[in-house]
Amino acid sequence: MTSLAPAAPQDAQGNAPGNTPGYARVRTRFAPSPTGYLHVGSARTALYAWAFARHHGGDFILRIEDTDVERSTPEAVQAILDGMAWLGLNPDEGPFYQMQRMERYREVIAQMLADGRAYHCYASPAELEAMREAQKAAGDKPRYDGRWRPERAAAAGVKPPADGRPVVRFRNPDDGVVQWDDGVKGSISIANAELDDLIIARADGTPTYNFCVVVDDWDMGITHVIRGDDHINNTPRQINILRALGGAEPVYAHLPMIHGPDGEKLSKRHGAVSVLQYETDGYLPEGLLNYLARLGWSHGDDELFAMPQFTEWFGLDHCSKSAAQFDFEKLLWVNQHHMKMASGERLAALVAPRLEAAGLGPALRNGPALAAVCDLLKDRTPTLVALAQAAEMFYVPVSPEAFDASAQSAEVMAALRGLAAGLTAQPTAGPAEVSALLKDLLKAHGLKMPQLAMPLRLLLLGRTETPAIDRVIALLGPSRVAQVVAARV
Ligand code: GLU
Repeated sequence: MTSLAPAAPQDAQGNAPGNTPGYARVRTRFAPSPTGYLHVGSARTALYAWAFARHHGGDFILRIEDTDVERSTPEAVQAILDGMAWLGLNPDEGPFYQMQRMERYREVIAQMLADGRAYHCYASPAELEAMREAQKAAGDKPRYDGRWRPERAAAAGVKPPADGRPVVRFRNPDDGVVQWDDGVKGSISIANAELDDLIIARADGTPTYNFCVVVDDWDMGITHVIRGDDHINNTPRQINILRALGGAEPVYAHLPMIHGPDGEKLSKRHGAVSVLQYETDGYLPEGLLNYLARLGWSHGDDELFAMPQFTEWFGLDHCSKSAAQFDFEKLLWVNQHHMKMASGERLAALVAPRLEAAGLGPALRNGPALAAVCDLLKDRTPTLVALAQAAEMFYVPVSPEAFDASAQSAEVMAALRGLAAGLTAQPTAGPAEVSALLKDLLKAHGLKMPQLAMPLRLLLLGRTETPAIDRVIALLGPSRVAQVVAARV
């Protein structure tokens, strides 16, 4: 009865997806509305859709749902693309923009009107309001009563008003139930009697959200719709439209929400800020991803893993059915693990701009190698911000007041002189040699390690908390340390 078939869309480069009728290949999508930044909740949805595609060797598609022209902005589109790129959630296809697909939506609506699967409705807002009021007064659930269905209008003898600007409504089935096996929540069914004839095009001709999603998922050959459970109410409507189009139903999988630690819906206060804010705050993308991966999914007791491992493990069967709680402490702990795993070189590249911004650029070029500094510090710095702060000790000028020679015992002063001499004799000493030298000096002068290490810390770095002193000396360079110590003792 219809000539409609899914039509492969083209992205900005003119590439069409490898759309396979029958959907032999897994195809997932992430479909954000660009009305704000990419926050952690949406990022988790994107991560799961991406990981599912990766796990099955399928395709991950990015679709920007920008039909809400009032609220969509180019800045928000860019923030979403930047957030995805930072996280490394790269789409295989897209981004596709709904605003560039208007012609296609119009074509499908025209065909549905021609086939009687949709119809024009001329009910005015005032009329609809009166209908709702009457239903409420009678104790019924307010819903559109189908008065402009062609046969009803004909039977009632009503004619389209000459100046009428109709909306287009989808003719929802009257009977039966819409049932689907949700990939996360299990079987869900809604009686068609609960649904009414949904508006699929407004009076100005623009298509509505639920309709565009269906046409897109159909055209793009989406096999698994993985999204937040705030969309569950849309699903039976979307399934009915898709069935009317003759499309193959994808698996729908609805992820529970993320709540704040207090059990409330996640808000800005809880960390529902842009993922790019997490970049600014010094999180590694793999740290945030690892944390988000576990926020609603589990693999036994495994907490710490890299993305290749996650994509190997990921499946909908181990997604949680109930809401997850965002926990900053845990995020820090997970990120600390990934800081430890990252190489000094990589951390140095990420930390250098932060130190440059703090005015330490020249000191960076004259001081010890930043990669070595990062390697030394990374086990105790949960974020790049913490690492940059700690690294500063190697680049800021040391206050001469931090070390007071007159307050030191004769033994400490003698050991320091011995250290200067010993290091001068071993200018290429590494941590092991430095450590052996320190032990000899402690023995010779009857001191314990903290008695010598503390004044040394103050003398070399101007603070009491530093990494192990033998490693600090090796990093600063034995000759340089020998000079600095000799000048003060
Ligand atoms: N654009 C919708 C949103 O941002 C998502 C639609 C969907 O995933 O089906 O919430």
